[in-house]
Amino acid sequence: MKKQTAGIHHISAIVGHPQENIDFYAGVLGLRLVKQTVNFDDPGTYHLYFGDQEGKPGTIMTFFPWANAYPGRIGDGQVGVTTFVVPQGTLPFWVNRLAKFSIPFKKAERFGEQVIQFDDPHGLHLELVAREEGALNSWSFGEVTKDVAIKGFGGAVLYSSRPEETAKTLADTLGLEVVGTEGDYTRFRATADIGNIIDLKMVAGARGTMGVGTIHHIAWRAHDQADHVEWQEFAMQQGQHVTDIKDRNYFDAIYFRETGEILFEIATDPPGFAHDESVETMGSQLMLPAQYEPFRDRLENSLIPIQVRSID
Ligand code: ZN
Repeated sequence: MKKQTAGIHHISAIVGHPQENIDFYAGVLGLRLVKQTVNFDDPGTYHLYFGDQEGKPGTIMTFFPWANAYPGRIGDGQVGVTTFVVPQGTLPFWVNRLAKFSIPFKKAERFGEQVIQFDDPHGLHLELVAREEGALNSWSFGEVTKDVAIKGFGGAVLYSSRPEETAKTLADTLGLEVVGTEGDYTRFRATADIGNIIDLKMVAGARGTMGVGTIHHIAWRAHDQADHVEWQEFAMQQGQHVTDIKDRNYFDAIYFRETGEILFEIATDPPGFAHDESVETMGSQLMLPAQYEPFRDRLENSLIPIQVRSID
């Protein structure tokens, strides 16, 4: 048996104050807050999900905001850079937008593509790349109109403690295809048209430490629950130490830490974020899983008040 993931389902990061997080990802980048909920393992803190208009897999960046936590260090054993894809011809808009908010950026080139590199307010490394592939995002917010809106993830750059081992896991376990090497990077491709380009840094550096401004894990797509069960079995056969299936309300999840120390998750496409609210209203209020609903009053009083607001 060989299995192939379609690509990235979501990427989850640890950040600082939740309002700063919302003002950046919704206010500056124009993403939609598709779900406000709590960290299921620590319900006194938020879990915020941003994505495209529908909250499709491959567009979802999620955050655990900890207003007073210690900074981490980006390094080996982590996703080093998160890449968002924008429509062809829109990089000049985005360069102007970053300048408007006084966000320092650099222009670089990798595998023949121009990338715009910058950091979020809590130190996460981000990039924008323009590509033809991937459906347009029909969400618009502030001056980020539909014709320039982020379509989802272009992909990610992985920093591994053991790059050769991680390369094997990407190819043999996740079924990604090697498309080339350039300098220190090997490029892999998955089958979807977004969240599909993974660059693995083939030179180990300093080990990362978890904390504010670092990626916690990257999740890969499973078609549905039956496929997810197959993935669990397959990843175990491949020698990965895989967890039980966990119900994350909007998808089912399994986790394993690959040999290069990056935490991988495999998540189901269904049921998605319109599971407990409508597509029209999702993200507008705090949603709780059944086990925390009895504590809603207490949770609402202890969580930091947040709002999605235009900062243009
Ligand atoms: Zn996850």
